[in-house]
Amino acid sequence: MSIQHEIPSYLTQHEIGPWGVYLEQIDRVTPYLGSLARWVETLKRPKRILIVDVPIERDDGTIAHFEGYRVQHNTSRGPGKGGVRFHQDVTLSEVMALSAWMTVKNAAVNVPYGGAKGGIRVDPRTLSPGELQRMTRRYTSEINIIIGPNKDIPAPDVNTNEQIMAWMMDTYSMNQGSTSSGVVTGKPISLGGSLGRREATGRGVFVVGCEAAAKQGLDIKGARVAIQGFGNVGGIAARLFSEAGAKVIAVQDHITTVVSEAGIDVPALQAHVNATGSVAGFTGVETLNDRARFWELDCDILVPAALEQQITESNANNIRAKIILEGANGPTMPAADDILREKGVLVVPDVIANAGGVTVSYFEWVQDFSSFFWTEDEINLRLTRIMREAFAAVWQLAEEKNVSLRTAAFIVACTRVLQAREMRGLYP
Ligand code: GLU
Repeated sequence: MSIQHEIPSYLTQHEIGPWGVYLEQIDRVTPYLGSLARWVETLKRPKRILIVDVPIERDDGTIAHFEGYRVQHNTSRGPGKGGVRFHQDVTLSEVMALSAWMTVKNAAVNVPYGGAKGGIRVDPRTLSPGELQRMTRRYTSEINIIIGPNKDIPAPDVNTNEQIMAWMMDTYSMNQGSTSSGVVTGKPISLGGSLGRREATGRGVFVVGCEAAAKQGLDIKGARVAIQGFGNVGGIAARLFSEAGAKVIAVQDHITTVVSEAGIDVPALQAHVNATGSVAGFTGVETLNDRARFWELDCDILVPAALEQQITESNANNIRAKIILEGANGPTMPAADDILREKGVLVVPDVIANAGGVTVSYFEWVQDFSSFFWTEDEINLRLTRIMREAFAAVWQLAEEKNVSLRTAAFIVACTRVLQAREMRGLYP
């Protein structure tokens, strides 16, 4: 009798997935790269992929194994940089695409990093706090050989937070024999974290959203905003939009969608989510039973701030928003991009819209190296300036070349990366 073996999921992932989306985006930008197109294959292959087994002892004494990944897509402009995601649907293709989008994002806002990303294929809600800590530490030990403050610097992403970063920093430091605060960003303030980092991605989304609205002649006061995702990105963006006088008319999370024509009380919703883990059960709002209807809501600004591949060929046509502000990484499929452009919907791409997080990660890393910490006002001012300048440069190029903001952002970024690649040359 033959024994049935469990096949690792990275061997059963036959679909090209999010990596295929990224490759299509690169193909679209290649005609605009001039002589640098000679180097474009560099962008179509991650520099380094590490797949690790993450075994832990569960609280009941059994042993569980999880698949962990760290992909360094490109290091031409500096060390790898990008978050770590804990999610049951993490795949190698997804981590590859996310690492590549980090390369593009870091170059688009001109922070001196390459691109990297990590993840563990796990639903962290199924782990006890002790199991979560043991898994995080074992994963960090396994990827220890390729991370470091000058090599590759992880940060929070979906389902990871300051506590996870503290454990990662401690594990790396213990292996190293000395405290190394610059090995991760998004740490607690007491361990060398930066003021404003927790809010930075959502704040960046808001800042860029205001710039885009101004270009479209849309007043933020009274603007109708719908947000998918109410975590670190969507929750903060919702708060800032509502503080600026916009009406947050809908929020969708992994469980349900809440809608209010009068505008949702965002602080009250945040308190409810902090207490219960979801927008479900929030009172004084309507609940949509059909998740797909979220995309058809009558709104001005639509903010996908959850996972990839949400806006597709099948729902793009029904979108009524004037602006799509990509808080998530990779929420829009290339075919949907085309439909939206045809319809005159302005898509502000992830690599600009959500770059606030890594921008303040960069500030954190600089502060750690100099052991000199800035005020929150200084951080927010510098963040706002970088975001506005990056948006303005991409807007101008998009007008000049008559291309989408995504293609323009990719032109700016890929040019920077490939110029660095060319100047460094191949070794040996
Ligand atoms: N995970 C965030 C992103 O996708 C932040 C990465 C970082 O700060 O390194 O941009």
